[in-house]
Order: sequence, then C-alpha cells, then structure tokens
Amino acid sequence: MGIDTERIEGAIRELLIGIGENPEREGLVDTPQRVARMYSEIVSGFDLDPNEIMQTQFNEGHQEMVVVRDVPFYSLCEHHLLPFFGKASVAYIPQGHVVGISKLARTIDVFAKRPQLQERMTSQVADSIMSGVKPQGVAVILRAEHLCMAMRGIRKPGSSIITSAMRGVFESSARTRSEVLALLREEQG
Ligand code: ZN
Repeated sequence: MGIDTERIEGAIRELLIGIGENPEREGLVDTPQRVARMYSEIVSGFDLDPNEIMQTQFNEGHQEMVVVRDVPFYSLCEHHLLPFFGKASVAYIPQGHVVGISKLARTIDVFAKRPQLQERMTSQVADSIMSGVKPQGVAVILRAEHLCMAMRGIRKPGSSIITSAMRGVFESSARTRSEVLALLREEQG
C-alpha cells in the first residue's frame, strides 16, 4: 500500500475548504504538505513486520515473569482520526526464549501507529507476542486517554480507558493473573 502524500494533500485542502477555511491564506498554504508528511510518520506501523521485530531472541532458562511497565504510545482512533495515547504494560512468562525489552516496545509501536481501536490494539500486541515469542503466557494492559472523548461528544477530559488481553497461563490461571495485576497496579501510586 504505502502512503500517497499527494492524495493526502488534496484531501486536506478539501477538508479546509469544507470547514469554511481558505487554504490559500498564509498560515494554511503549507498545511496540506505538512499534514501529509505527518501522516507518513504517525501511521508508519504498517511498514513494520512484528514477526521480524521479534526474531532476535535469547535462549535463557528464565521461567519467571518479565514485566515492562508504562511504555508510552500514541495512536489514532479510527472512528474520529483523533489521537488516543497513554501507556502500555506487557508481562510475559518465557518458555525457553526471552526477547529484548526494546522489541516489546517496538511491537507496541507497530500496532499503535495506524488507525486503531484500543481494544483491538491490546489484542494484537498480545497475539503477536504469543506467536512471535511462544511464551507460557502474555498479559497486555493499555491505559489511554482519547481526544475524541475529551474534545467532543461526551467531553470527559482526564478520564482513561483501560483494556487488557490475557493469553496462555494468564488466561487459564487466576493466580498468575492476579499476580500480574498486582504488579501493574503498584506502579500507579
Ligand atoms: Zn474516537
């Protein structure tokens, strides 16, 4: 697919006309071009293959839970094309392989940088780690603020949406699940 910047520029010019603006006025004349450039960055997640990211793994006897907390992310609500952003936490219990922490952060980015729904992004991150690392289990928790909730509609700035996805042992064992939830809660203090 790839980004068609010319098309984005044309669409933004139309959008400006549509909202009653003059796209030729000084402050707006370069806006379509700037927005097009911006989009090629904020939806760049399509260019990355999550499986490739997780290819580098280390063989480790480690069988205990690994938790990465509060990885910041920025995404785009696909219903309104307004940002939603917040922090992602990922926990997994390895089964022979561990993966670098930066790879987990990049996986979050892959699924954040595209038009998204928070619920789907949470599942995609969990499923992709499950298939890429094949751990005993994965837990992903996203806490985010949605500008489409803050600026319009129900106008509730400051409220956050929390979504979670549990796979493997986190799904099957209530004890493991409450262990990770306790670990992730500690951080909020
Ligand atoms: Zn929205």
